[in-house]
Amino acid sequence: MPEQIYDVIVVGTGTGGSSLAALSARAGLKTLVLEKNPRIGGACSGYEKDGFHVDFGTHLCTRGGKGAVGEVLKRVGAASRVEFVQPRKLCRITGLGLDVPLYTSARTLFKTSFRLNHQLGVTWREFPAMWRLTRDLFWMDEAKIDEWDNKTVEEFISRHSLNPGLHAHINVIMALYFVYPYWKSSAGEAIWCTKRMLESKAVSYPKGGTIMVPRVMLDAAKYFGATLLTRARVRKIMVENGAACGVELDDGRKFRGRAVVSTSSLKDTVFNLTGAGHFPDDFRERVKGLQESHNAIQIKLALDRKVIQEGSLIVLGSPGDFRPRTATIPRVHQVYEDLLAGRIPELVPLYLVVPSNFDPRLAPPGKQIVTMCTGVSLTTTKLQDPQEAWVEVMMNALRKVVPGIDKHIIWKEVVGARAIESWIGKPGGPAISTAQVPGQVAGERPAIRSPLPGLYIAGDGAGGRGVGTELAAMSALECAEILEDDFRSGRIS
Ligand SMILES: Cc1cc2nc3c(=O)[nH]c(=O)nc-3n(C[C@H](O)[C@H](O)[C@H](O)COP(=O)(O)OP(=O)(O)OC[C@H]3O[C@@H](n4cnc5c(N)ncnc54)[C@H](O)[C@@H]3O)c2cc1C
Repeated sequence: MPEQIYDVIVVGTGTGGSSLAALSARAGLKTLVLEKNPRIGGACSGYEKDGFHVDFGTHLCTRGGKGAVGEVLKRVGAASRVEFVQPRKLCRITGLGLDVPLYTSARTLFKTSFRLNHQLGVTWREFPAMWRLTRDLFWMDEAKIDEWDNKTVEEFISRHSLNPGLHAHINVIMALYFVYPYWKSSAGEAIWCTKRMLESKAVSYPKGGTIMVPRVMLDAAKYFGATLLTRARVRKIMVENGAACGVELDDGRKFRGRAVVSTSSLKDTVFNLTGAGHFPDDFRERVKGLQESHNAIQIKLALDRKVIQEGSLIVLGSPGDFRPRTATIPRVHQVYEDLLAGRIPELVPLYLVVPSNFDPRLAPPGKQIVTMCTGVSLTTTKLQDPQEAWVEVMMNALRKVVPGIDKHIIWKEVVGARAIESWIGKPGGPAISTAQVPGQVAGERPAIRSPLPGLYIAGDGAGGRGVGTELAAMSALECAEILEDDFRSGRIS
C-alpha cells in the first residue's frame, strides 16, 4: 500500500485546532486531526458526572455567534448547530463592598456604570473622565486603537483616572480577558476586544456546554472528509530536507503531511516537538522570550438546588482587608506580584459561570452546576501556598456572597494548575499561550507561518485577536487563508 500523505495535519482539537480542521477540510484539503486526550476540545472540553455536564474550563464567549467563532461556524455551514444563549441576568460583580448587576440590555449601561463608579469610590469630579473612558471603549477608531497596541492598559486608564478602585476593577477585568495583569496587558488589544464585545452585545454560552463549539467544528471537518484520531499524542514533528513533512506519535505511528499545524504553544512546538535546531537563531530567541499568560485553579460544584440566579459572577474575595474603594495602586500591583510568585494575594477574584443557568439540561432537574476559577502562577513556579489553601480562600470568597452554599454542595472537584497543564498540553499551563502584551499583539503577534517551511502555528499561540476562544478561532481563520494561499502558490509542495 502506498503511504497516505495528508495535505494538512492539525495537532490539537481545542477551539483553534477544531476550527482549522473544519476550514481546511471545507477547502478540500485532505486533513488529519490529532488529539492526545481521550476527549476532544482542549480548554473547551467537558465531561459527564452523576447527570451533570461539567465544562473542563470556565467559559463565556465574548462575542457568541457574532465574532470569529461564529464566522468559522458560518463558513463551514454549521452556524445553526451551535446556539449561544444569554440570560437577562448575565452577570453580577460582587464582594468586598461591590454589588453591581450587569444586564444584557444596553439601556441599563448608564445605570450600571454609575453604580459601579459610585461603589468604586469614583467622585463626581471624576465623572467627565469616566465618560471619556467609556467613549473611548465604544467609539475609538481603528487607527487610534493601533496606537495603543504597544502601550499597557494601565497607561491607558491612568490617562483618564488614577482612582485606585477603578484600577483594581480594571485589573480584575484584564485577568478575565487576558489572564494577565493590567499593567502588562496591551491597551490596544483590550480596547479592540471591549469595543467589539460591546458592539456585538453577544456575550453568551453555547447550549450543550462549551464542548459544543469544538464538537460541531470537528463534525463539520469529518463531514468534509477529515480524519480525527484521539489518544494520538504527537511526540515529534518530522523534518526532512529543511521542511516539516509529518508527525510521529508516542505509539510510534507516523503520518506524512505537506503542512503541519500545531496548536500547542509556540515554546512547546519549537523546543519540544520540532527541535530548536530547525529554526534560525533570531526566531528561537524570540520564542524563548515570549511572555505567556498565567494558569488557573478551578473548582466545580454540583449543587442540589438552584442557588445562584445569575449566569455568571465576578466575585471579589480577600483573605485580608483589601477593599477596592480604599486600595492604592501599589497594592493593586502587589496582588499580581504575589500571584505570579505563587503566593495567595490580598485580592482573590473568582470568575464563576453557572452553565445550567444558560442551559438547564446541563444539570439534573432542579439542580445546578457551577464552575469557577482564579488565576495562579504557571506550574514552572512552585506554589508557595499549597493548592488546598487557594481552594479554601476561593470557597471563603464564595461563601461570603452566597451564604449557606456549603449545605447545597453534592460534590466538589478541584482542577489545579497541573491538571490544566497536563490536559491542554502547553508546558506551564498558560490559559493564553502567547500573552496579549505590547510587542505580542496585532502586527507584532508571532506569525502563523513559521520560518520552517511546512510548519504553521494556530490557536492562542500565534496570529488572531480577541479574548481566548475568539483569539484561537480568529487565528484559525487566518491560518486557513494562509494555507490556501501557500497551496495555491506552490509554496507548499
Ligand atoms: C480556566 C480557563 C478559563 C478560560 N476562560 C475563558 C473564557 O471565559 N472565555 C474565553 O474566550 N476564553 C477563556 N479561556 C481561554 C481559552 O480557553 C483558550 O485561549 C482557547 O480555548 C485556546 O484554544 P487553543 O485551540 O489554542 O488551545 P487548547 O484549547 O488549549 O487546545 C490545545 C489542544 O492541543 C492538544 N495537544 C497539545 N499538545 C499535543 C500533542 N503533542 N499531540 C496531540 N495533541 C496535543 C491538547 O490536548 C489540546 O486539546 C480560558 C482558559 C482557561 C484555561
